[in-house]
Amino acid sequence: MYKKIIFIISIMICVSCPGHQRSSTFLSNQRLKIYKTSTCDSEKPFPQMIIIPFFESASQVVPSCKIYPKHKTALAMMVFYHHWLKWFGDEDLSVKNALEGVMIEWSMEKKTFKVAYNLKGKKIKNATIIGLTRTSSLIWVWRGPFNRISDTSLMHELVHVMLRVKNGHGDRDHEGEKYSGWTIEHSALIYEAKEMLRSFDI
Ligand SMILES: [Zn+2]
Repeated sequence: MYKKIIFIISIMICVSCPGHQRSSTFLSNQRLKIYKTSTCDSEKPFPQMIIIPFFESASQVVPSCKIYPKHKTALAMMVFYHHWLKWFGDEDLSVKNALEGVMIEWSMEKKTFKVAYNLKGKKIKNATIIGLTRTSSLIWVWRGPFNRISDTSLMHELVHVMLRVKNGHGDRDHEGEKYSGWTIEHSALIYEAKEMLRSFDI
């Protein structure tokens, strides 16, 4: 009997403890009104800024309503977080907080950059780039070839954002040795997250 009571009490404590609530991920509709009113309108001029549902103040700037529907972007960000938790955890919730405030600017065109680094850290001059992390809350992403988020660099740029948040810089040479932060685990996270997005056809 005592055992039962202790068990029930411990469940109640766990349910009400703040740590437990803080770690509850993004499925809150507290801002439902703003999520509902912030919609893409193909009749209006582009680019348009849309609030991403379930994330405190995340947003995206879109060049077309197809690039990308806000619920697809929201799901992609949840998938990213799921995999980040699996690989690295998020004890201080800094990754969750960064996601809550991120702004994604989608682009129809690629860019060229004087100097960029590939995944292995090799320097490339006049590189064509498909994504760019501008600050710890602002990223630019090319729309990709097939109208699917899994074919874009969104997961990759989100890793840069999180490295900026944690280390103060995004590690622009990735797995290369000039800058630190990015490891093969980060590359594996991106691979897995994209696979999951593909299973949702996103
Ligand atoms: Zn990169």
